[in-house]
Amino acid sequence: MSEEISLVESTQSIIKEALDKLGYNDDMYQLIKEPMRTLKVRIPVKMDDGSVKVFTGFRAQHNDAVGPTKGGVRFHPSVSEDEVVALSMWMTLKAGIVNLPYGGGKGGIICDPREMSMDEVERLSRGYVRAISQIVGPTKDIPAPDVFTNSQIMAWMMDEYSAIDQFNSPGFITGKPLVLGGSEGRDRATALGVVVCLEQALKKRDMKMEDIRIVIQGFGNAGSFLSKFLYDRGAKIVGISDANGALHDPEGLDIDYLLERRDSFGMVTNLFDDVLSNSELFELDCDVIIPAAIENQITEANAPNIKASILCEAANGPTTTEATRILTERGVLIVPDVLASAGGVTVSYFEWVQNNQGYYWSEEEVNEKMEEKLIAAFEEIYDLHENRQIDMRLAAFIIGLKRTAEASRYRGWA
Ligand code: GLU
Repeated sequence: MSEEISLVESTQSIIKEALDKLGYNDDMYQLIKEPMRTLKVRIPVKMDDGSVKVFTGFRAQHNDAVGPTKGGVRFHPSVSEDEVVALSMWMTLKAGIVNLPYGGGKGGIICDPREMSMDEVERLSRGYVRAISQIVGPTKDIPAPDVFTNSQIMAWMMDEYSAIDQFNSPGFITGKPLVLGGSEGRDRATALGVVVCLEQALKKRDMKMEDIRIVIQGFGNAGSFLSKFLYDRGAKIVGISDANGALHDPEGLDIDYLLERRDSFGMVTNLFDDVLSNSELFELDCDVIIPAAIENQITEANAPNIKASILCEAANGPTTTEATRILTERGVLIVPDVLASAGGVTVSYFEWVQNNQGYYWSEEEVNEKMEEKLIAAFEEIYDLHENRQIDMRLAAFIIGLKRTAEASRYRGWA
């Protein structure tokens, strides 16, 4: 298979394998291989210079047999329908893995918020909600942050939806600011979930946090919190990167210093002269690599040169099918994205539950509940991987699809 294979196609082939292993026939695959609904919208936005620019956006709802669909909205120039569709399927898997009463959804807008003013981003966010308003809602499909979207954008989106709904609707969206019904711990939830999964993986390999060297790709929401958590737990962060390049120090980088200097899009390497490329980053001498940026970063080209013995995927889809095969064969323990990055949607679920009940929990309570879910999910996937001698990604797909397939069967959809 070529590395050019689309994200949807590579996801479909693992879905097929997982459904086969679960004993379902082709009817179930035909149902699950694509979203139930994908909406493409055009969003005209008045720009600051008075011109009107039309943006293209998407919202994909993979399968709502279990419950409303759920998943983030990304603002990025490389957003495409293929990407949003694959991301919606991965959200079904994440929800299934941590046992949330949701199906998967995902949205995206082709745009570059780094080159837009705050007012333009606000108008775009509100326009997107108007364009998708008929298919979303607290009991239908619940958006959240993703690449280059944040709590301010969630607040604008909630405000716009509340105006359309003529109701104060905090449960329409998660990842909101605390004062608008956000949850304690949501902003750092993805990173904390990765730490919980990495701790489990280290135990399986008899390794200790304070003895390991870690490389992290990406210094955005997940990557920055993650580097801080791991640094504070005694790990040596020997490499980090952003979209511009990578910084490296075999003795360990001063993460607090870098965090102070990063901008709101996670850029920091532009302030330094000695910068490696993102592909050199993965080849550094280290024990653990954590991709925390975008898709297709670990490929058949760089997988053979990776020295780490654990790959913990904080990003969605960072490793291609071929690279997964190469690394698995080489004995690298892969903690797949649909497990490692499920902390975000888990706390989003807690946010929605708190919005629905109107009673809010402490950060300790939220974190404890999240940890419990992720540890149980890790153990279940790891056991299946060991007992059936299958790779961790396939094991995660099997667990992740089980509930949606069963709910679909009960409903008579397959
Ligand atoms: N965008 C995040 C993800 O990919 C979070 C989704 C959510 O909180 O609903 O998992």
